[in-house]
Amino acid sequence: MKVIVIGGGAAGLMAAITAAEKNEVTVLERGPRVGRKLAVTGNGRCNLTNMNMDVACYHGEDPEFVRPALRAFDVEKTLSFFRSLGLLTVTEPSGRVYPLSDQAGSVVDVLRLRAADLGVKFRCEFFAHEIRPENGGFRVFSDSEELFAHKVIVAAGGAAGTRFGGSEAGYILLARLGHTKTAIYPALSQLRADNTFTRPLKGVRADGRVEIVSRGQVIAASEGEIQFTDYGISGPAVFEVSRTAATARECAARLDFARFLTSGELTDILRPRLKSTLTAENLLTGTVHNKLGRTIVTRLGYPLAMPVSKLTERDLERVIVAVKRTEINILGHMGMDGAQVTAGGIRTREADPETMESRIVPGLFLCGEVLDVDGDCGGYNLQWAWSSGRVAGLLGEKA
Ligand SMILES: Cc1cc2nc3c(=O)[nH]c(=O)nc-3n(C[C@H](O)[C@H](O)[C@H](O)COP(=O)(O)OP(=O)(O)OC[C@H]3O[C@@H](n4cnc5c(N)ncnc54)[C@H](O)[C@@H]3O)c2cc1C
Repeated sequence: MKVIVIGGGAAGLMAAITAAEKNEVTVLERGPRVGRKLAVTGNGRCNLTNMNMDVACYHGEDPEFVRPALRAFDVEKTLSFFRSLGLLTVTEPSGRVYPLSDQAGSVVDVLRLRAADLGVKFRCEFFAHEIRPENGGFRVFSDSEELFAHKVIVAAGGAAGTRFGGSEAGYILLARLGHTKTAIYPALSQLRADNTFTRPLKGVRADGRVEIVSRGQVIAASEGEIQFTDYGISGPAVFEVSRTAATARECAARLDFARFLTSGELTDILRPRLKSTLTAENLLTGTVHNKLGRTIVTRLGYPLAMPVSKLTERDLERVIVAVKRTEINILGHMGMDGAQVTAGGIRTREADPETMESRIVPGLFLCGEVLDVDGDCGGYNLQWAWSSGRVAGLLGEKA
């Protein structure tokens, strides 16, 4: 049987490898190469799954939709699949799994090589803009070509990560066949914030706790890596709270850069320094990232060259408050370009969760981010791509 997979991303590659075990498979990819987004995931390290898998980590109109696919191709099966391709992985204490090579490119390579080994044909720079059901099969059209397939798998991804191939093309393609989509918005997104604090820290990564505060209430909180950018804040801890922050009317991010210490413990650590010969430049050395420490001190108005012996207890208290409770106003998110995943997508009630087959067009299968499924930060989105891609690639056969 001839099978066309539209989209050479994580879900499409998994679907193609699965389908190619019994069929003749062609992957159509509009970009210059397959796995473009996959190659930049996890800051170039690819957080490919998470040992703490739970349906509660997924969102959409019907979060339960993910359950059958996640059961059919669970984390264990995913890891043994990758091991069979020669990909070694490491699991961090948080449960996040990465390739041992620390290179997202390794994940793309093992998938690409396995697909090629199974005879999968890759047609890059093929933008599929129409799928037409015909004689029990389908014709797939680009501007200049048409191809026939008995079955089609749409793995065209979502709109997030525009620089890495994210677009609304998949939704448009499926809408022409009668599918509908929910509203879409960026999730796991960088946040735009008052950048007077963040801009001088551009590129710095700090461990911390982020609380999103609106009208005096903490409405979301997360812990882990915070990254500073030209326009605001980013990083895994920020992604976790971005959905709430992006939809709140007015809010601020309260940052704690010493989450493992109480204010009292931090005071006990820093107070002896007030009797030393240090200058303000080194007051926070060893406590937080050096650049962050210097920024906190200067923002409070203490010149870096000032001897710390001139600081009073009250000054120390101000420094501690800044380390534990710096607040910056959130101005919004960075749009689809700065988001890792699209919240919303093709309505999941239009596909069978057991097979991923369209309920509107028999013989057409959907998988990955094009559907209204988005996961938490931590490898959940790629696990959805692997599980749904695997099930779609079985083309209706039971897993
Ligand atoms: C910067 C970044 C970092 C991320 N890091 C992680 C992470 O560490 N862990 C994690 O779990 N998730 C991560 N994600 C999310 C994850 O990458 C996506 O959820 C996942 O790649 C979705 O897989 P997909 O195959 O559905 O879509 P994609 O990987 O986006 O692939 C879809 C492909 O379809 C192609 N296409 C679209 N329309 C057409 C068409 N009409 N014709 C032909 N081709 C078409 C696109 O060019 C694209 O290559 C990250 C995302 C980004 C942007």
